[in-house]
Amino acid sequence: MTDLSPRSIPSAQFSRRRWLAGVAAASAAACLPRAWAAPAPRKAQIAITFDLEMSRHYPQRGMMEWDFRKGDLDQATKDYAVEAARIAKERGGLIHFFCVGRVLEQPDVEWLKHLSATGHPIGNHTYDHVYVLAKEAVETQFRFQRAPWLVEGRTAADVISENVKLATLGLKERCGIDVAGFRTPGGFATGLDGREDVQQMLLDQGFDWVSSKYPAHKAGEPMVDPGPDVFADIIRAQAEAQPYVYPTGLIEVPMNPISDVGAFRTNYWKRPFFLQAIREAIDWAIETGSTYDFLCHPSCMLVEDPDFEVVQQICDQVARAGDRAEIVALGKMADRVRT
Ligand SMILES: [Zn+2]
Repeated sequence: MTDLSPRSIPSAQFSRRRWLAGVAAASAAACLPRAWAAPAPRKAQIAITFDLEMSRHYPQRGMMEWDFRKGDLDQATKDYAVEAARIAKERGGLIHFFCVGRVLEQPDVEWLKHLSATGHPIGNHTYDHVYVLAKEAVETQFRFQRAPWLVEGRTAADVISENVKLATLGLKERCGIDVAGFRTPGGFATGLDGREDVQQMLLDQGFDWVSSKYPAHKAGEPMVDPGPDVFADIIRAQAEAQPYVYPTGLIEVPMNPISDVGAFRTNYWKRPFFLQAIREAIDWAIETGSTYDFLCHPSCMLVEDPDFEVVQQICDQVARAGDRAEIVALGKMADRVRT
């Protein structure tokens, strides 16, 4: 255990200021005639999403080979995903998974069928974890940089389109799973803005929403405890991570900061800081009736959160909010902006 209690973390002051401001606003609203009071915020929508892939530097720092074998999930990662799903369901929630298709070549896929059969949606995360904004075919994946003959003579658009299609096909043929949406490998600060070609490719393959945007935000310095400015900036970025519609009609359902790899892998955060950032972001979503799409990777979380504290905290926080919040699949967030 660590000696960091949430109370000792600096941004508690920030939260208190926000709370006091909220009390003042509520008192002012109480003095107004009923017709003048602001409408109650919409019910907050909270999603827990796990990307089913291996992550570099896990389970040990220096482990880089996963870059070439993103979909070759090890047993510990699959076990973590299954147990997290069980815990979420036990608490009335669900986990929305995004699967790298190459895991479907493994001899046993019962764990994945089990996740789907127990009500957890499984989305497409491409077959090889390809970079969908790539301009050259070899740029789409480390595997193709090492073995360029696999994509010889092909365009990036062709490789990406096929990689998305193969994951959909594989999930259906091997597991009988109909994909629940698409998440891009990697998150982009501007989502798919300006990339109508990629938006159209996804629409053409039957997707009506994508999860690709991850807004820029402060995360502090690696190995330095995050201060109030970091927590405040993570809250600020929540408003930039709300669903919207692209000109093509495709819907964006962004990821909300901070992700597990951003906190733990890049910045070496201790778990209490991660739990605090998530708790404050969900408080913000509940206060404002917004969405919060939590992103993590079981391959990272099994090292950083072996006792599933994050999943339990999110489910319990949403349960405490009563009818002001609910845990949903990402498709339901897309419904908010569907015309
Ligand atoms: Zn990924």
